[in-house]
Amino acid sequence: MKKRLDLKAYRDGILSGSRVILSQAITLVESALESDQAIASDLIQSLIAHTGNSIRIGITGVPGVGKSTFIEAFGKILLDQGKKVAVLAVDPSSQLTGGSILGDKTRMENLSSDKRAFIRPSPSGTTLGGVSGKTREAMLLCEAAGFDVILVETVGVGQSETAVKNMVDFFLLLMLAGAGDELQGIKKGIMEMANGLVIHKADGDNLGPAKTAKSNYQNALHLLPLAENNWSPKVILASSVSGDGLDKVWEMIRDFEEKMKAGGFWESNRANQRLDWLNNQIQLLLQQNFLKNPKVKQLIADEKENVQSGRLNPGTLAKNLIDVFLSNQSTT
Ligand code: GDP
Repeated sequence: MKKRLDLKAYRDGILSGSRVILSQAITLVESALESDQAIASDLIQSLIAHTGNSIRIGITGVPGVGKSTFIEAFGKILLDQGKKVAVLAVDPSSQLTGGSILGDKTRMENLSSDKRAFIRPSPSGTTLGGVSGKTREAMLLCEAAGFDVILVETVGVGQSETAVKNMVDFFLLLMLAGAGDELQGIKKGIMEMANGLVIHKADGDNLGPAKTAKSNYQNALHLLPLAENNWSPKVILASSVSGDGLDKVWEMIRDFEEKMKAGGFWESNRANQRLDWLNNQIQLLLQQNFLKNPKVKQLIADEKENVQSGRLNPGTLAKNLIDVFLSNQSTT
């Protein structure tokens, strides 16, 4: 078994801003071991008063759009402004379609060598577009450790966008000029989720097409109904190579923060997200307990073949399994 600290050591380490302990605590939170999960949840509860003070930004876009280059350059601007920046990122080696396909193994080198930054790749295997089931928890731990901007990177594969959108304050979509929406794998739904669009790599020969793309996207966004918070998503041209436009992205996010806080939407969005998280946790725990139940396991083993062959209605078996689970619970 891996070496573990006690709760107080994790807590004190995180509150003192130790990146090493923060990293170990995230490993604990990501662990599937029941004993680890118990400490992890106590740890988060013990730190809860120290969480919530960051700006949480989700960053998405297809592989190759330049997410890690953007995060590196954008993160640097934030550091220069005195911010502490945490990045919860896709691990390229764990992604089929990730950066490694582009031969780009050394991601965010500058940022990761800076003491005021913290970069955490997602664990392999358990990720959905780079977002693990524990990204929310990791985010809270980063906040308790004093990071005031959290960037959550995800690859544009659909489901992971919804997961990230549900845990961040601002959702940023990186796009390229010249590539059709379909080519970029961007569905309309993802565009609707975005609070801001960046036409990335707007440099050199690409600047002209980027300007055209900007006005096209602006027009497309104007056709969408205005969100409840009255925010209309902005489109910004940026280059992480020249650095142009990156300050505008930050301005946009600050403007969003100011307006949402003034209108009460910042907090109501977070309140809804916490309820969403509760629902996720209930589903997860119920499922874990359910599938561990010996009688349930036995009945699944007995009837699996009947379901596979089409003789038994899965709905009927599911109902029986729930009955078995519940009667088994009440007698134990
Ligand atoms: P990711 O897969 O979305 O994380 O994309 P990367 O950050 O790995 O970038 C993919 C490629 O695009 C790399 O070769 C980068 O050097 C290049 N790139 C990233 N940002 C820019 C930019 O602003 N301008 C230009 N011209 N190239 C860029």
